[in-house]
Amino acid sequence: MSISVLVAGGAGFIGSHLVDRLLRRSDVERIEIVDNLWTGRRENLSHIDDPRVSLTIQDIERADLGRYDEIYHLASPATPLSYMAEPVRTISANVCGAIHMLRALKPGGLICYTSTSEVYGDAEVSPQPESYRGSVDCTGPRASYDESKRCTEALLLEASRVHGVRVKIARVFNTFGPRTRPDDGRAVSNFIAQALRGEPLTVYGDGQQTRCWGYVDDIVDALERFFWRDGVEFPGPLNIGNDRQISVADVARYIAANYGGQAGVNFLPPVPQDPDNRLPDLALARAHLAGWRCQVSYEEGIDRTVEWFRRELAATCDPRSGLHRVGGIV
Ligand code: UDP
Repeated sequence: MSISVLVAGGAGFIGSHLVDRLLRRSDVERIEIVDNLWTGRRENLSHIDDPRVSLTIQDIERADLGRYDEIYHLASPATPLSYMAEPVRTISANVCGAIHMLRALKPGGLICYTSTSEVYGDAEVSPQPESYRGSVDCTGPRASYDESKRCTEALLLEASRVHGVRVKIARVFNTFGPRTRPDDGRAVSNFIAQALRGEPLTVYGDGQQTRCWGYVDDIVDALERFFWRDGVEFPGPLNIGNDRQISVADVARYIAANYGGQAGVNFLPPVPQDPDNRLPDLALARAHLAGWRCQVSYEEGIDRTVEWFRRELAATCDPRSGLHRVGGIV
């Protein structure tokens, strides 16, 4: 069988890792990546030298699409810095992007969507099972992201219910690792970039808010198994993340102690409507992905990510850094 695949957001942090996994499949004949490089980076694909892959730089909701057997929708910024700066564009990429891509799906095709733990908002229950309906402020500062993810989940599940479209929805919790942009704005990437530059680490609020920090390889393992590898029929939504809860202050202290020299931690005013905690209930994930669990501790994940950041920051200072190999990517 020769499968044609569309990956929207395939030059992004998680998207590019998913492309690497798709390339291991011998049944995939063509992978078309559409990415507007808003938060994605061409460099995330520069290691790929495979004639099956092509990259089109375009907004997904306006892209000229072909017809595909499988579509992966990861076209959205995920950092508050970006979605708060451009909320309309965020809603458009998620919702209009999904509507546009549904039309490009071949009959019997599969569309997979990376939703988010943000659909739970400032959760009143912990851990959060998929059945929890969330506590989201539709007029709050995170609304463009939270509500467009929720709306896209509804859109796809309704397309499945009414039109029989095959869909899969993963709710991805906080993820970090190589290929995050150093200027991405999220906690781990900010702390590492600040530590390596010898600057104080910026913790918002008292740092007692917690997140579960999933290392990207573990998260993409679960996505790969759910989306195609394990023959899972369940459409989701399925929580995917690490379930070890660590406070933001602890992560900052770990990075400052190991990589920050004398920089230390600087406590800044809290961010409005910053959720107190985010903890996935992984019972469903464990039921559907037998034996899957996060293998990489946050300490080890941070150590690996620091190594990547060191190389990345060095390359940014290197005048030859524009000479990235492009392989099959034009
Ligand atoms: N955070 C922080 N300093 C930073 C960036 C983020 O203290 O430089 C905090 C942020 O306020 C939140 C947590 O770290 O409480 C995780 O933020 P991130 O943006 O990584 O992900 P979120 O869970 O908010 O989407």
